[in-house]
Amino acid sequence: MFLLAHTGITLGAVWLIGHLDKGAGLNAANAVPLAVLGANLPDIIDKPIGVFAPELGLGTGRGIAHTLAFNIVLLALGLWLSGWLLYVAVASIGHLILDYMWRLPRVVFWPLYGFAFPRVGRRGFRAQIQAWWHSLWTDPRVFLTEVVGAIFILVYVLQVYRAWL
Ligand SMILES: [Zn+2]
Repeated sequence: MFLLAHTGITLGAVWLIGHLDKGAGLNAANAVPLAVLGANLPDIIDKPIGVFAPELGLGTGRGIAHTLAFNIVLLALGLWLSGWLLYVAVASIGHLILDYMWRLPRVVFWPLYGFAFPRVGRRGFRAQIQAWWHSLWTDPRVFLTEVVGAIFILVYVLQVYRAWL
């Protein structure tokens, strides 16, 4: 999944949780930017590494920030420090679910299978971008989740716009 799916589906989850969560001390206006940040945090960290430093073995775009280890530490810090980081951490864990990370056990359970991340044949910025672009237009799961995410973002933006009127 890419930006629209991660952002939109997380916005939908925040909207749902906002109706259930009355005691976190964060209102929806504060929670949304944090959740959007957390929803994209693993890609914000790993995708640039995969593009600009594929020799590190992160050519899949899924590396350290897509591991349970990283996200458990983030969740622990969120529980220990404050509510705001908790939103980031929970949304980041949601990112792993939306990425179907159980299909990449060498990444998600790092370092149980060794310290090296799986390598792919692609090298360089252009090859990586082409691979992501190809999956967007040839994998219906990727395309459809991006469309669903875009619809959720549109509904959210329309709600915010209507609230301002
Ligand atoms: Zn990802």
